[in-house]
Amino acid sequence: MTLPFFPEDLFDDDREVLLDVVERIGRSPEQKFILGDHVARFEAEIRDSIGAADAIACGSGTSALLLVLRAMGVGPGDEVIVPAFGCAPLAAAPALLGATPVFADIDPWTMVVDPGAVARAVTPRTKVIMPAHLFSVMADMPALRRIAASTGVRLLEDSAVAQGGTLAGIPAGMWGDAGVYSFVQVKTFGMPGEGGMVVTGDPGLGEVVRMLRNHGQDGKTRFRYHRVGYNSRFDEIMAAFQLHRLPGFPRRLERRARIGEYYTGRFGELAGCGVLAPPPDRDGRCYYVYSLLCERRDELRGHLAKRGIGSHVYYRSPLPRQPAFEPFARPGDAWPVAELAARWALAIPIYPHLTDQQVEHIADAVCEFAKEP
Ligand SMILES: *Cc1c(COP(=O)(O)O)cnc(C)c1O
Repeated sequence: MTLPFFPEDLFDDDREVLLDVVERIGRSPEQKFILGDHVARFEAEIRDSIGAADAIACGSGTSALLLVLRAMGVGPGDEVIVPAFGCAPLAAAPALLGATPVFADIDPWTMVVDPGAVARAVTPRTKVIMPAHLFSVMADMPALRRIAASTGVRLLEDSAVAQGGTLAGIPAGMWGDAGVYSFVQVKTFGMPGEGGMVVTGDPGLGEVVRMLRNHGQDGKTRFRYHRVGYNSRFDEIMAAFQLHRLPGFPRRLERRARIGEYYTGRFGELAGCGVLAPPPDRDGRCYYVYSLLCERRDELRGHLAKRGIGSHVYYRSPLPRQPAFEPFARPGDAWPVAELAARWALAIPIYPHLTDQQVEHIADAVCEFAKEP
């Protein structure tokens, strides 16, 4: 592949900085490797940049979801409404707490959860609505917030892929009672390691999450456990590295947005030829992954591969069709749109260091495929 879907050179520009950070923290007299000053500064920077009451760095995006659900008191007998199309942690986080993930179908164009399906899935046992932003489009948060408010259910925004995005002026992560980010390598603010963050406008919820991430301790008295917690702490070396990378993040996001907008402009005319691009708009976009819908998906994938262009299939099956989550599906439930997305979605490269020429080459290849007789 000359243009791999997952590029290996994401951190090349910052390799010296990474080595320097390892050296500096590794040799520092205090020998503090987790939850030190760098983590506190990193949390403060993110918190202030989005106007949150608290930001809590933790072990991963998955862990962030789990911590929030636990802090919200989710447990056996509770239902958590999640999209039928998405990644494992959406279903696993409620399930690991003994709650039931209830799967709602998605919108056929944007592929994010359909608010109508969410509203229909609410029962007296529903404790949390957990939409996820997917690929390049944010979920319909205004509608979901109205549903949560009118039913008295809490709203957890899985904004793992949408850090830096905004919808109607509100940053991704700030639409619900809490939001989460993920810093795993491939995400828009990824890093060379595992990490995540909980952001919230509710200081009380933040305080509980803060305790849960470090064995239920309050950060003042060591070995005093107020709650049954987890080990989901954050690394000082990674925090220092992310503090260095933070100022460049808006520029990299903007580059992603430009590439996405270029694609959407080029692909607008392909809708009648079996290749559907995401709806054109700047508001409520995050440009983590650029996903097309194509009936002849595997052929398109082969066509691109022959031209040296990597692509990726997210996700080959709806969540309730996965062996692990099938037991949670209720008889009679169906997710026809999620089934189609699983057959048709194909993601093409959108990382910020693609050159204009490479982006054009990728767009040309997709257009050529759609227009060939
Ligand atoms: C990546 C991702 C997560 C999980 O984040 P990790 O840091 O990999 O645990 C959760 N939800 C969504 C929508 C994601 O894309």
